[in-house]
Amino acid sequence: MALGASPRPIGLVPTMGWLHAGHRALMARARAESATTVVTIFVNPRQFSEPTDLARYPRNEARDVEICTAEGVDLVFAPPVDEVYPPGFDTVVSVGAIAQPLEGAARPGHFDGVATVVAILFNLVRAERAYFGQKDAQQVAVIRRMAIDLAIPTEIVSCPTIREPDGLAMSSRNVHLSPEERAAAPVLRQALLATRQVWENGERSADALRARMRAGLSEEPLANVEYVSCADAATLAELDRVDGPALLSLAVRFGSTRLIDNEPLG
Ligand code: AMP
Repeated sequence: MALGASPRPIGLVPTMGWLHAGHRALMARARAESATTVVTIFVNPRQFSEPTDLARYPRNEARDVEICTAEGVDLVFAPPVDEVYPPGFDTVVSVGAIAQPLEGAARPGHFDGVATVVAILFNLVRAERAYFGQKDAQQVAVIRRMAIDLAIPTEIVSCPTIREPDGLAMSSRNVHLSPEERAAAPVLRQALLATRQVWENGERSADALRARMRAGLSEEPLANVEYVSCADAATLAELDRVDGPALLSLAVRFGSTRLIDNEPLG
Protein backbone atom coordinates (compact mmCIF):
# COMPACT_ATOMS: atom_id res chain seq x y z
CA MET A 1 0.00 0.00 0.00
CA ALA A 2 1.29 3.45 -0.95
CA LEU A 3 0.42 5.13 2.32
CA GLY A 4 3.74 6.74 3.16
CA ALA A 5 3.01 10.08 1.52
CA SER A 6 -0.69 10.12 2.39
CA PRO A 7 -1.88 13.08 4.44
CA ARG A 8 -2.52 12.42 8.11
CA PRO A 9 -4.47 11.59 10.12
CA ILE A 10 -5.38 8.30 8.44
CA GLY A 11 -8.75 6.73 9.26
CA LEU A 12 -9.13 2.97 8.72
CA VAL A 13 -12.38 1.04 8.22
CA PRO A 14 -11.81 -2.74 8.18
CA THR A 15 -14.64 -4.70 6.48
CA MET A 16 -15.43 -8.03 4.89
CA GLY A 17 -17.20 -6.34 1.97
CA TRP A 18 -20.78 -6.65 0.69
CA LEU A 19 -20.96 -3.10 1.92
CA HIS A 20 -24.17 -1.59 3.30
CA ALA A 21 -25.30 1.53 5.12
CA GLY A 22 -23.64 0.36 8.35
CA HIS A 23 -20.25 0.30 6.62
CA ARG A 24 -21.05 3.59 4.89
CA ALA A 25 -21.64 5.26 8.25
CA LEU A 26 -18.20 4.11 9.42
CA MET A 27 -16.66 5.49 6.21
CA ALA A 28 -18.47 8.82 6.58
CA ARG A 29 -17.27 9.17 10.17
CA ALA A 30 -13.71 8.25 9.18
CA ARG A 31 -13.77 10.70 6.31
CA ALA A 32 -15.05 13.52 8.53
CA GLU A 33 -12.19 12.97 11.00
CA SER A 34 -9.32 12.01 8.68
CA ALA A 35 -7.21 13.47 5.87
CA THR A 36 -6.93 10.00 4.30
CA THR A 37 -9.63 7.33 4.56
CA VAL A 38 -8.68 3.70 3.97
CA VAL A 39 -11.18 0.84 3.65
CA THR A 40 -10.04 -2.76 3.71
CA ILE A 41 -12.16 -5.51 2.16
CA PHE A 42 -11.06 -8.95 3.24
CA VAL A 43 -13.22 -11.99 3.94
CA ASN A 44 -10.92 -13.35 6.60
CA PRO A 45 -10.99 -17.15 6.52
CA ARG A 46 -9.44 -17.39 10.00
CA GLN A 47 -12.44 -15.84 11.72
CA PHE A 48 -15.01 -18.30 10.33
CA SER A 49 -15.69 -21.31 12.51
CA GLU A 50 -18.07 -22.90 9.96
CA PRO A 51 -16.68 -23.68 6.46
CA THR A 52 -20.14 -23.31 4.86
CA ASP A 53 -20.49 -19.83 6.39
CA LEU A 54 -17.20 -18.80 4.73
CA ALA A 55 -18.07 -20.42 1.40
CA ARG A 56 -21.39 -18.61 1.10
CA TYR A 57 -20.30 -15.25 2.51
CA PRO A 58 -21.58 -12.70 -0.06
CA ARG A 59 -18.99 -10.92 -2.21
CA ASN A 60 -19.10 -8.21 -4.86
CA GLU A 61 -15.84 -6.30 -4.99
CA ALA A 62 -16.75 -4.11 -7.98
CA ARG A 63 -19.89 -2.84 -6.27
CA ASP A 64 -18.02 -2.38 -2.99
CA VAL A 65 -15.39 -0.22 -4.71
CA GLU A 66 -18.16 1.92 -6.22
CA ILE A 67 -19.64 2.45 -2.77
CA CYS A 68 -16.23 3.39 -1.37
CA THR A 69 -15.73 5.87 -4.21
CA ALA A 70 -19.16 7.40 -3.57
CA GLU A 71 -18.21 7.80 0.11
CA GLY A 72 -15.00 9.64 -0.80
CA VAL A 73 -12.68 6.86 0.37
CA ASP A 74 -9.09 7.52 -0.72
CA LEU A 75 -7.78 3.98 -0.78
CA VAL A 76 -9.39 0.53 -0.94
CA PHE A 77 -7.21 -2.41 0.05
CA ALA A 78 -8.69 -5.77 -0.98
CA PRO A 79 -5.82 -8.24 -0.72
CA PRO A 80 -5.94 -11.92 -1.71
CA VAL A 81 -5.76 -14.40 1.16
CA ASP A 82 -2.13 -15.40 0.51
CA GLU A 83 -1.01 -11.79 0.67
CA VAL A 84 -2.37 -11.47 4.20
CA TYR A 85 -1.28 -14.99 5.17
CA PRO A 86 1.73 -15.86 3.00
CA PRO A 87 3.22 -19.37 3.06
CA GLY A 88 4.86 -19.94 6.42
CA PHE A 89 2.52 -17.61 8.30
CA ASP A 90 2.35 -19.06 11.81
CA THR A 91 1.25 -16.48 14.38
CA VAL A 92 -2.02 -16.13 16.27
CA VAL A 93 -3.06 -13.08 18.27
CA SER A 94 -5.24 -14.45 21.04
CA VAL A 95 -7.03 -12.08 23.42
CA GLY A 96 -7.91 -13.40 26.89
CA ALA A 97 -11.01 -13.24 29.07
CA ILE A 98 -13.03 -10.66 27.12
CA ALA A 99 -12.90 -12.90 24.04
CA GLN A 100 -14.16 -16.05 25.83
CA PRO A 101 -17.94 -15.61 26.44
CA LEU A 102 -20.78 -14.91 23.96
CA GLU A 103 -19.44 -14.92 20.39
CA GLY A 104 -16.17 -16.43 21.60
CA ALA A 105 -17.99 -19.39 23.14
CA ALA A 106 -20.43 -19.77 20.24
CA ARG A 107 -17.77 -19.49 17.52
CA PRO A 108 -14.54 -21.21 18.60
CA GLY A 109 -11.46 -19.50 17.15
CA HIS A 110 -13.47 -16.56 15.85
CA PHE A 111 -11.78 -13.85 17.90
CA ASP A 112 -8.31 -15.31 17.35
CA GLY A 113 -8.99 -14.83 13.65
CA VAL A 114 -10.34 -11.33 14.15
CA ALA A 115 -7.51 -10.17 16.42
CA THR A 116 -4.86 -11.66 14.14
CA VAL A 117 -6.13 -10.01 10.97
CA VAL A 118 -6.84 -6.68 12.65
CA ALA A 119 -3.32 -6.62 14.10
CA ILE A 120 -1.94 -7.19 10.59
CA LEU A 121 -4.15 -4.47 9.11
CA PHE A 122 -3.18 -2.05 11.89
CA ASN A 123 0.50 -2.66 11.18
CA LEU A 124 0.07 -2.28 7.43
CA VAL A 125 -2.01 0.89 7.51
CA ARG A 126 -0.69 2.58 10.68
CA ALA A 127 -3.84 4.67 10.96
CA GLU A 128 -4.35 7.23 13.67
CA ARG A 129 -7.89 5.91 14.12
CA ALA A 130 -9.84 2.79 13.19
CA TYR A 131 -13.63 2.62 13.07
CA PHE A 132 -15.76 -0.32 14.20
CA GLY A 133 -19.51 -0.89 14.64
CA GLN A 134 -21.24 -1.23 18.01
CA LYS A 135 -23.31 -3.96 16.36
CA ASP A 136 -20.33 -6.21 17.05
CA ALA A 137 -19.89 -4.91 20.60
CA GLN A 138 -17.67 -7.75 21.81
CA GLN A 139 -15.45 -7.36 18.76
CA VAL A 140 -14.85 -3.71 19.68
CA ALA A 141 -13.97 -4.75 23.24
CA VAL A 142 -11.59 -7.48 22.02
CA ILE A 143 -9.82 -5.10 19.62
CA ARG A 144 -9.50 -2.39 22.27
CA ARG A 145 -7.93 -4.93 24.65
CA MET A 146 -5.52 -6.06 21.94
CA ALA A 147 -4.54 -2.50 20.98
CA ILE A 148 -3.81 -1.58 24.60
CA ASP A 149 -1.90 -4.78 25.37
CA LEU A 150 0.20 -4.73 22.18
CA ALA A 151 0.89 -0.98 22.41
CA ILE A 152 -0.75 -0.37 19.05
CA PRO A 153 -1.09 3.42 18.72
CA THR A 154 -4.28 3.33 16.59
CA GLU A 155 -7.27 4.75 18.47
CA ILE A 156 -10.36 2.51 18.35
CA VAL A 157 -13.58 4.39 17.56
CA SER A 158 -16.93 2.64 18.17
CA CYS A 159 -19.86 3.81 15.99
CA PRO A 160 -23.62 3.31 16.46
CA THR A 161 -25.47 0.41 14.86
CA ILE A 162 -27.26 1.33 11.63
CA ARG A 163 -30.66 -0.32 11.16
CA GLU A 164 -33.28 -1.00 8.56
CA PRO A 165 -36.49 1.02 9.04
CA ASP A 166 -38.07 -1.95 10.89
CA GLY A 167 -35.18 -2.11 13.35
CA LEU A 168 -33.19 -5.03 11.93
CA ALA A 169 -29.47 -4.29 12.28
CA MET A 170 -27.87 -4.08 8.87
CA SER A 171 -25.62 -7.04 8.15
CA SER A 172 -24.09 -8.60 5.07
CA ARG A 173 -25.68 -11.88 6.21
CA ASN A 174 -29.22 -10.46 5.94
CA VAL A 175 -29.08 -11.24 2.21
CA HIS A 176 -29.38 -14.95 3.09
CA LEU A 177 -32.75 -14.54 4.86
CA SER A 178 -35.81 -15.91 3.05
CA PRO A 179 -38.73 -13.47 2.79
CA GLU A 180 -40.39 -15.17 5.79
CA GLU A 181 -37.18 -15.05 7.83
CA ARG A 182 -36.60 -11.42 6.87
CA ALA A 183 -40.11 -10.57 8.06
CA ALA A 184 -39.39 -12.32 11.38
CA ALA A 185 -35.89 -10.93 11.95
CA PRO A 186 -36.89 -7.59 13.59
CA VAL A 187 -37.86 -9.70 16.63
CA LEU A 188 -34.22 -9.36 17.80
CA ARG A 189 -34.56 -5.60 18.11
CA GLN A 190 -38.06 -5.87 19.55
CA ALA A 191 -36.93 -8.29 22.25
CA LEU A 192 -34.01 -6.02 23.16
CA LEU A 193 -36.17 -2.87 23.34
CA ALA A 194 -38.87 -4.61 25.38
CA THR A 195 -36.17 -5.76 27.80
CA ARG A 196 -34.71 -2.26 27.98
CA GLN A 197 -38.20 -1.04 28.91
CA VAL A 198 -38.39 -3.56 31.75
CA TRP A 199 -34.98 -2.32 32.96
CA GLU A 200 -36.11 1.31 32.69
CA ASN A 201 -39.12 0.38 34.83
CA GLY A 202 -36.69 -0.68 37.57
CA GLU A 203 -36.04 -4.40 37.06
CA ARG A 204 -32.45 -5.18 38.15
CA SER A 205 -32.45 -9.00 38.17
CA ALA A 206 -30.34 -10.18 35.23
CA ASP A 207 -32.26 -13.48 35.18
CA ALA A 208 -35.52 -11.55 34.77
CA LEU A 209 -34.03 -9.49 31.94
CA ARG A 210 -32.68 -12.59 30.18
CA ALA A 211 -36.11 -14.23 30.59
CA ARG A 212 -37.75 -11.17 29.04
CA MET A 213 -35.44 -11.42 26.02
CA ARG A 214 -36.28 -15.12 25.60
CA ALA A 215 -39.99 -14.40 25.94
CA GLY A 216 -39.77 -11.73 23.25
CA LEU A 217 -37.89 -14.03 20.89
CA SER A 218 -40.30 -16.93 21.54
CA GLU A 219 -43.06 -14.89 19.90
CA GLU A 220 -41.40 -15.65 16.58
CA PRO A 221 -41.47 -19.38 15.68
CA LEU A 222 -38.72 -19.02 13.06
CA ALA A 223 -36.27 -17.67 15.66
CA ASN A 224 -33.92 -20.33 17.09
CA VAL A 225 -32.19 -18.77 20.08
CA GLU A 226 -28.47 -19.49 20.42
CA TYR A 227 -27.92 -17.30 23.47
CA VAL A 228 -29.31 -14.34 25.35
CA SER A 229 -27.01 -12.41 27.66
CA CYS A 230 -27.16 -9.71 30.28
CA ALA A 231 -23.51 -9.00 31.02
CA ASP A 232 -21.24 -6.46 32.66
CA ALA A 233 -20.48 -3.88 29.95
CA ALA A 234 -16.76 -3.84 30.75
CA THR A 235 -15.98 -7.54 31.30
CA LEU A 236 -18.92 -9.17 29.43
CA ALA A 237 -19.27 -11.58 32.37
CA GLU A 238 -22.88 -12.60 33.03
CA LEU A 239 -24.50 -10.58 35.81
CA ASP A 240 -26.74 -11.51 38.72
CA ARG A 241 -27.87 -7.93 39.22
CA VAL A 242 -27.64 -4.90 36.96
CA ASP A 243 -26.15 -2.21 39.18
CA GLY A 244 -23.95 -0.49 36.60
CA PRO A 245 -23.39 -0.33 32.84
CA ALA A 246 -24.53 -3.57 31.21
CA LEU A 247 -24.92 -5.06 27.76
CA LEU A 248 -27.95 -7.01 26.60
CA SER A 249 -27.01 -9.19 23.66
CA LEU A 250 -28.35 -12.12 21.71
CA ALA A 251 -27.59 -14.50 18.88
CA VAL A 252 -30.44 -16.06 16.95
CA ARG A 253 -30.60 -18.40 13.96
CA PHE A 254 -33.20 -18.14 11.25
CA GLY A 255 -32.74 -21.30 9.24
CA SER A 256 -29.04 -21.37 8.39
CA THR A 257 -28.54 -17.63 8.93
CA ARG A 258 -27.15 -16.45 12.25
CA LEU A 259 -27.92 -12.90 13.42
CA ILE A 260 -26.65 -10.96 16.44
CA ASP A 261 -27.69 -7.69 18.05
CA ASN A 262 -27.22 -5.88 21.35
CA GLU A 263 -28.39 -3.00 23.46
CA PRO A 264 -26.30 -1.19 26.07
CA LEU A 265 -27.94 -0.32 29.42
CA GLY A 266 -26.74 2.59 31.54
P1 AMP B 1 -18.19 -6.77 8.57
O1 AMP B 1 -17.97 -6.40 7.13
O2 AMP B 1 -19.52 -7.37 8.85
O3 AMP B 1 -17.03 -7.53 9.15
O4 AMP B 1 -18.23 -5.39 9.35
C1 AMP B 1 -17.20 -4.45 9.21
C2 AMP B 1 -17.41 -3.37 10.23
O5 AMP B 1 -18.68 -2.76 10.03
C3 AMP B 1 -17.39 -3.89 11.67
O6 AMP B 1 -16.75 -2.94 12.50
C4 AMP B 1 -18.85 -4.00 11.99
O7 AMP B 1 -19.12 -3.89 13.36
C5 AMP B 1 -19.40 -2.81 11.24
N1 AMP B 1 -20.82 -2.97 10.98
C6 AMP B 1 -21.44 -4.03 10.42
N2 AMP B 1 -22.78 -3.85 10.41
C7 AMP B 1 -23.00 -2.64 10.98
C8 AMP B 1 -24.18 -1.89 11.27
N3 AMP B 1 -25.40 -2.34 10.97
N4 AMP B 1 -24.03 -0.68 11.85
C9 AMP B 1 -22.79 -0.21 12.17
N5 AMP B 1 -21.65 -0.88 11.93
C10 AMP B 1 -21.76 -2.08 11.35
